[in-house]
Amino acid sequence: MSEKVDFVVIGSGAGGSAAAARLCEGGASVLLAEKGSPASTSNDALRAIGKYYTNEGLSAAMGNCLLPIPTGEVLGGTTRINSGTCLKTPKDLLRRWEAVEGFRADGFEPHLDEAWRRLKVKPVPEETQSRSTKLFFKGLDSLGISGGHALERGEDGCVGSSRCCFICPRDAKMSAEKAYLAPLLGKPGFEVACETELVSLAPGKNPRVTLRSESGTREVECKAVVLACGTLRTPYFLRRFGLGRAPAGDALSVHPATKVFALFDEKVESDKGVPQAGGLLDPDEPRIRYEGIHMPLELAAMSMPFEGRELRRWMDVHERIATFGFMIRDESRGSVRYPVGPRLPWLSYRLQDGDLARMTRAMRFLGKVFFAAGARKVVLPLNRPGSVFETAAQLQKADLSDVRAADLQMMAFHPLGTCGMGRVVDGNLKAADGVYVADGSVVPESLGVNPQITIYAFALRLAEHLLGVPA
Ligand SMILES: Cc1cc2nc3c(=O)[nH]c(=O)nc-3n(C[C@H](O)[C@H](O)[C@H](O)COP(=O)(O)OP(=O)(O)OC[C@H]3O[C@@H](n4cnc5c(N)ncnc54)[C@H](O)[C@@H]3O)c2cc1C
Ligand code: SF4
Repeated sequence: MSEKVDFVVIGSGAGGSAAAARLCEGGASVLLAEKGSPASTSNDALRAIGKYYTNEGLSAAMGNCLLPIPTGEVLGGTTRINSGTCLKTPKDLLRRWEAVEGFRADGFEPHLDEAWRRLKVKPVPEETQSRSTKLFFKGLDSLGISGGHALERGEDGCVGSSRCCFICPRDAKMSAEKAYLAPLLGKPGFEVACETELVSLAPGKNPRVTLRSESGTREVECKAVVLACGTLRTPYFLRRFGLGRAPAGDALSVHPATKVFALFDEKVESDKGVPQAGGLLDPDEPRIRYEGIHMPLELAAMSMPFEGRELRRWMDVHERIATFGFMIRDESRGSVRYPVGPRLPWLSYRLQDGDLARMTRAMRFLGKVFFAAGARKVVLPLNRPGSVFETAAQLQKADLSDVRAADLQMMAFHPLGTCGMGRVVDGNLKAADGVYVADGSVVPESLGVNPQITIYAFALRLAEHLLGVPA
């Protein structure tokens, strides 16, 4: 016997939680299924990665480079392990998306504002900004570069303990769970089923899903299913069941990102303060966005381009090392396929020459800023000899024209686009009768800004469409 509910939402990240909450607030009965479990707060980065990151943090794309792409598998999805930064969708992209039938920029903006309010977004105050951020601002000032600014984040009670990506120990970060699910828990007609996985899906006027958990399987019939398993998982279900206007899984954009380390005479104590506290859009290349980042000691050891005694020497001075990062609004694209099922997606990504040139430009820029702030040494994220520089002049003269994609130590935190609106799903995010998508996969192109607010807004818009609220 199958159960009946108005809507089934799969996945509790930014998209799934916002969609489920809005549907419930609109009077519908909702079952939200989430593969992960609720997180317990933690101060231990490696434990959090092992428990709450998908595949223990080991997801990576291959191509002409090795590109780790971590995501969260926990109640609240990747928002439980993100940095909390909030930036709204650039207006020029919203206008471009109006080419998709049914999408209106002025209809989207109120949803961005609603997510902004719900996440209690505010600029990081000076007292909780990390020292690395302050050194970045100092370097910009010495070089006479304007535009550096405090980033805006969703938080309530943040004290700057620098663990945002490993489950906030004070539960101060406004994750999807805290902002959208917690206020509704216990409400009749709203069920959140954790450790429960979507395994099968039949579209139609009354679509049906099969969910699996340790206690068995559940068959559920509903008015519509909202898939929100994330950019790297949702395409599996569209491909497996032949849904969508075009095959899902292509057009993967990721915002390739990396960081530069710098050694100072003074203590930086990078384990204090909000790590992603400040930012800057590159003064001359709008596809490069600089943002703070922090590597806890245990991860810094793995991510510095050194080994043996040299690594040991750098770890001995860890307290004096500052870090700052950047991401590229990529022109390069990748894809996701599932040769062995949804658990181990096969990710491909090739960094094109234009994006490679932006990466080397941004590394050099950050090095220059750190030297202007008084750094003694700068370390570029290169897997090859010659990554350490002792003066600004030496860095400026360095020939980086032969740096290849494979030489770069990169990561990417923003996979988007694999079920793009207008390509795989329509302007109302419909993939097939009774089946809709509300996660990062629907974002039609590389955003150039951190994506969570855009994803929340897409999901809120979809929920209102399903509730029949006029756009
Ligand atoms: C380290 C890090 C830092 C980041 N920092 C920022 C930031 O500061 N600002 C920002 O805007 N963005 C940031 N991001 C990105 C942002 O958090 C994500 O883009 C966003 O959370 C994605 O939302 P989503 O709904 O697409 O998917 P997710 O949040 O990934 O949620 C998908 C959920 O679906 C579940 N799921 C998957 N398959 C199934 C299944 N078969 N059945 C049931 N459930 C399933 C997963 O367990 C997961 O919980 C960061 C990301 C990372 C990794
Ligand atoms: S800086 Fe610390 S308190 Fe603030 S959100 Fe991050 S982990 Fe939580």
